[in-house]
Amino acid sequence: MPNQKDLLIVGSGAIGLSLADECLRAGLSVLVIDKSGIAQESSWAGAGMLTCRPRLKRDTSKPDYYDLALRSVRLHAEWAARLKEETGVDTGYRVCGALELSRAQPAPTAMPPELAEEETSGGGDKSTISKDSTAEWIALCSARGVPARWIDAHETRRLEPNLAPDVLGAIHFSNEAQIRNPWFTRALETSIRKRGSEVRTNTSVADFIFDTVTQSVQGVVTTSGEAIRAGRVAICSGAWAGQFAFVTDRVPALKKVAPVRGQLLCYETRPKLATRLICERNHYFVPREDGVLLVGATHEKAGFDKSITVEGTAELERFAHSILPALKTIKPIKTWAGLRPGMKGRHPLIGPIPGAKNLFISAGHYRNGLTLAPASAELLTGIIMDRPSLISPEPWLPE
Ligand SMILES: Cc1cc2nc3c(=O)[nH]c(=O)nc-3n(C[C@H](O)[C@H](O)[C@H](O)COP(=O)(O)OP(=O)(O)OC[C@H]3O[C@@H](n4cnc5c(N)ncnc54)[C@H](O)[C@@H]3O)c2cc1C
Repeated sequence: MPNQKDLLIVGSGAIGLSLADECLRAGLSVLVIDKSGIAQESSWAGAGMLTCRPRLKRDTSKPDYYDLALRSVRLHAEWAARLKEETGVDTGYRVCGALELSRAQPAPTAMPPELAEEETSGGGDKSTISKDSTAEWIALCSARGVPARWIDAHETRRLEPNLAPDVLGAIHFSNEAQIRNPWFTRALETSIRKRGSEVRTNTSVADFIFDTVTQSVQGVVTTSGEAIRAGRVAICSGAWAGQFAFVTDRVPALKKVAPVRGQLLCYETRPKLATRLICERNHYFVPREDGVLLVGATHEKAGFDKSITVEGTAELERFAHSILPALKTIKPIKTWAGLRPGMKGRHPLIGPIPGAKNLFISAGHYRNGLTLAPASAELLTGIIMDRPSLISPEPWLPE
């Protein structure tokens, strides 16, 4: 069929664009379509931290996300160099290090209890990090190849002089990094277009074209009734991934993909108030090179509503003022909210959809999709091309 692509990707967020880039490099022809603009949803709204801390009190019966994260953080460094060379676009990748603070009285976190278990930072502790858990956590990090060491209050303030006086110390993760996510997705889009591929916007997928004889998917039907045929289809539609009955009938776990709203504050600070990622449980600061300082994030179940709320802003300001008191005299220049593709239980899901040949998914990346985008793309490309991969696909398969 003329112009029919080898692969159609539904969703142009970090997950879809990364998959497109990787599949193009593997030799497939690709079309990406999105119901709105290019990477304007969660992948635009996110903070861009690249973290791969193992969880201390994780349930060992669940697959280990950190292998995927560790691989992905390494790939981010390679991709940043390659994309810069190919497209001239900087992804903002920077190894800045991170501090996980210890304070006697951490800022309160407002979070629905059912999200709390999934959301606590690597220490796995619902309070601030304790002495006992700190030593255990650092040992676990070292065993997993993640550099981490305890630093006392004096050393913490030497690294970040603007911190509040009640900081007792911190775990210093010297290798943690960040990207500027809107730059990252722009670099991917530029790379995809340079290879002659198209990203079609304002095109919403309603359903899939399914051949019952071969039990295979042959394309999609859009909400305006247009049929777009392709050799294979990959669903990378973030928080909307659970909305296709065709798919949830085959993988009921996908019904659990649901939006988790995250609000952020954005400050402009000169001189800069911080240079590293500064985290306390589920709140954090992400300082950019140019003085932009992000403060995040709320975790709310509000459906597909991306409103900014008075309560959300107050929660973030309370946290921000208690850790970087100089912010009390500065107003945020912007606030925004995005919808994480939340998912209870095992996530993300990456692989073929059972009972529908040629249909694949990469979704449910929740609060780590920017970190996981390169490794998720590598993994799914390996599955699509039937080639071996460094990371076992087993834990992430939809079935
Ligand atoms: C406040 C906040 C902070 C975050 N911070 C971080 C962080 O520091 N580090 C990190 O790793 N992650 C972070 N995340 C999470 C990260 O942003 C997400 O996990 C990631 O962006 C998910 O990427 P995605 O491509 O799956 O989803 P999205 O970026 O949401 O992309 C999905 C795309 O699919 C399109 N789509 C949906 N339905 C259809 C349809 N029917 N037809 C066509 N197109 C469709 C949408 O329009 C959208 O563009 C954060 C998220 C938020 C909200």
